[in-house]
Amino acid sequence: MPIDATQGYDPENIFAKILRGEIPCNKVYEDEWALAFHDIAPQAPVHILIVPKGAYVSWDDFSASAPAEEIAGFVRAVGRVARENGLVAPGYRLLANVGADGGQEVPHFHVHLFGGAPLGRMIAR
Ligand code: 5GP
Repeated sequence: MPIDATQGYDPENIFAKILRGEIPCNKVYEDEWALAFHDIAPQAPVHILIVPKGAYVSWDDFSASAPAEEIAGFVRAVGRVARENGLVAPGYRLLANVGADGGQEVPHFHVHLFGGAPLGRMIAR
């Protein structure tokens, strides 16, 4: 069910539990700022989720509240995950869903990284 991106951060959300190691994930990359892992229900041959380690609900929250160093660290992590997975030459897509119209279901900010095949139209019709 889509979330309300204006709500406060819920530390019991599924990605917070993954970050705390309370539930497992198929880890792709980790550094000081970010954790990346395979999506449990992939929608492309490569479908990786990259989440900041800090507690942010959405792109809106992250972009407004995170310190510049954390934003830079996270953005660099996203680029590095794409690079290390060989996606720069063939190309890839990043997606951040926000709130109900965006279809966001997990209330911890995350970026979807899709690749491994031509990805079709930007938005389904
Ligand atoms: P959203 O719609 O919030 O942008 O995307 C949430 C994504 O998280 C979905 O693609 C969904 O498949 C993925 N997801 C939900 N629960 C889990 C989980 O427990 N583990 C992993 N790896 N992915 C999950």
